[in-house]
Amino acid sequence: MTSLVNSADSHVLEPVDLWQRELPPSMRDRGPVTETTDGREIVYVDGTVVRRDPVAFMEAIRPPGAHDPVARLTDLDGQGIWAELIFPSRALWVHLSGDPALQAACCQVYNDWLYDEVMSRSPRLIGAAMLPVLDTADAVRELERNVRRGFQTVFLPTATPEGREYNREDWQPLWAAAAEAGISLSFHIGTGMDPVVYRGPGGAITNHVVSFYGAQTTLCHLVASGVLEAHPDLYVSFVESGGSWLPAVMERMDEAQRQYGTFFLRPRLPMLPSEYVRRQVHVSFQHGRAALAVADITGLDALLWGSDYPHLEGTYPNTQAVLADIFDGVPDEIRTAITGGNFARLFAVPDPAAA
Ligand code: MN
Repeated sequence: MTSLVNSADSHVLEPVDLWQRELPPSMRDRGPVTETTDGREIVYVDGTVVRRDPVAFMEAIRPPGAHDPVARLTDLDGQGIWAELIFPSRALWVHLSGDPALQAACCQVYNDWLYDEVMSRSPRLIGAAMLPVLDTADAVRELERNVRRGFQTVFLPTATPEGREYNREDWQPLWAAAAEAGISLSFHIGTGMDPVVYRGPGGAITNHVVSFYGAQTTLCHLVASGVLEAHPDLYVSFVESGGSWLPAVMERMDEAQRQYGTFFLRPRLPMLPSEYVRRQVHVSFQHGRAALAVADITGLDALLWGSDYPHLEGTYPNTQAVLADIFDGVPDEIRTAITGGNFARLFAVPDPAAA
């Protein structure tokens, strides 16, 4: 039996010429530009190479549904997925630009396209509005612009430029704006950085593992600097991070707070770090049962499942087989919370029965 689920992690493929078409003339060729030579797809942002991938690999993660919303809905139906949270593809590299105005403009172009060409096709397609990270006022402006037209969450990278770490006070207006608007923050792992950290033997596996370290650091910044204390209704998701690491970080933060006692701690939080995590943090995973094993520590509410469609790290085109494997013998109420119910409390999802 297939079961209808919601996915907290998916990606849409923007048109190759989107930014050249839509950016102001002065910036036209400085947004993401793609060139294919010698079997490699090379992406430039502001004239700098940010990605160099084998064309065969890129083709493997581009089914028609990656860029065509009608085909996308067919793929969702085929995979037994009802609603999904959508992140970018080509736009992911915009955060590597060092120019605040260019970042802000590229985010606007992406969000406008996402709204007009993807989200307008179905309320099952829930887009995360991408925010620039170099200037907080720009980020607040883009958040508010997209909240006004119904976006339910914003996408931020897990790696930040030097001096823009998420514990910095400069970010406070953004956290306040998100809390005020009542929308959540979605941090997608492996972003804001070059995902090829290591080369040589074992590089692919090592890079896949270290791609989620940014989620751990970002979580610590938000909890330990008091962001979640200041905004008790602000929900934070770590997307594609997996879930089984969460108790380790909860325990380690609690240990620091308890053992340092009167030393070093600034600010002093009235609750244990793990209590903020249980109250406000969500993590999404694709494969494996390890996330289920930690639910008594993280709380069942913390766990989300995501397909990561259409990436190789995800479950497409075998979603139902993967889910059957993960949830074999698991009580129904746990399965339905992780694969749909927790998602539906974070986001407004259309009623499948009414469709
Ligand atoms: Mn993903």
